[in-house]
Amino acid sequence: MQNIKLQRTTAPKEKPNEDKLGFGQIFTDHMYIMDYDEGRGWHDPRIVPYGPLSLDPSAMVFHYAQEMFEGLKAYHTGDGRVLLFRPDRNAQRAENSCKRLCIPPVPQEDFINAIKTVVSVDRDWIPTKPGTSLYIRPFIIATDNHLGVHPSLSYKFLVILSPSGAYYASGLDPVKIWIEDDYVRAVRGGIGEAKAGGNYAASLKAQEKSDAEGYAQVLWLDGVERKYIEEVGSMNIFFKIAGKVVTPKLNGSILPGVTRASCLDLCRHWGLEVEERRISVEELVSAARDGSLDECFGSGTAAVISPVGVLRFGDEVMEISGGGIGPLSQRLYDTVTGIQTGRIEDEFGWTVE
Ligand code: PMP
Repeated sequence: MQNIKLQRTTAPKEKPNEDKLGFGQIFTDHMYIMDYDEGRGWHDPRIVPYGPLSLDPSAMVFHYAQEMFEGLKAYHTGDGRVLLFRPDRNAQRAENSCKRLCIPPVPQEDFINAIKTVVSVDRDWIPTKPGTSLYIRPFIIATDNHLGVHPSLSYKFLVILSPSGAYYASGLDPVKIWIEDDYVRAVRGGIGEAKAGGNYAASLKAQEKSDAEGYAQVLWLDGVERKYIEEVGSMNIFFKIAGKVVTPKLNGSILPGVTRASCLDLCRHWGLEVEERRISVEELVSAARDGSLDECFGSGTAAVISPVGVLRFGDEVMEISGGGIGPLSQRLYDTVTGIQTGRIEDEFGWTVE
């Protein structure tokens, strides 16, 4: 295990009001940082006061986006413990993202240890009100000062922390989702299954379009035929069609969500019929028309479960679960958030103190 040096801040910031946290705007007092170079590999792990980085304007990350990130949360339990939810999954996904982007992976145990250590240093920043959490953002950037397209020889790995507000002020809230048939997010063979900034840059244009139409997020179709359902802007997508739980199969262009895997495990554990397969947009439209599309929801770290009340594809506006919250969405939400916050016994061993 690495020995992480700690330099505490001499100017601690005032803690924010827990009722006004929002998402991703406030950062804690400290951050974790570690460097990589060819000779020494990953070295010099340290926790330092949160603050700006100094990088050369030619640093490769600015030009060729050689970068990856992760996202997970720490939760306060009612009895004073702090839990991480399946950090081993994020460590594994980070390693896969690094390999795809030619970034030297951080060993998984060092990745998890970095998270545990910086969260415990800033433990007082973890909000305690129901629904709140501490969002954890690990990321790696390419830092060679060189304009040339090739893998960088030096990197920085950082972990920053952001107290985040309750996603739902009062219970689950259904969202409206826009099915995008023009722009695409990723193609098989590209970097869609890696958690890389470039995927999100590619998504902005369609997000702008769906915002303008009053929709919360974009549902992407496959990049070749624009026919098969992939995933939402920052969530995976599930349907309940004729009694079966159906979600797109991981095909190389979809991000393998930790929440997605957990929902699949729970549905199977509950004895529901589950299918991971290709789902065409035509199939969805006809299921919505004939009344067999019982439910639709997104899964992701931010909101855990987002029931989808309306799906729009071209001129077709499909109302699902009467625009409300389906029973499976509610059950998954209650169970996953219950395990995350220690209110429900963790029979799967998903949480780490
Ligand atoms: N797809 C995309 C594109 C995402 O950004 C996210 C959020 N990380 C997800 C799916 C859901 O993944 P997870 O359940 O691990 O948060």
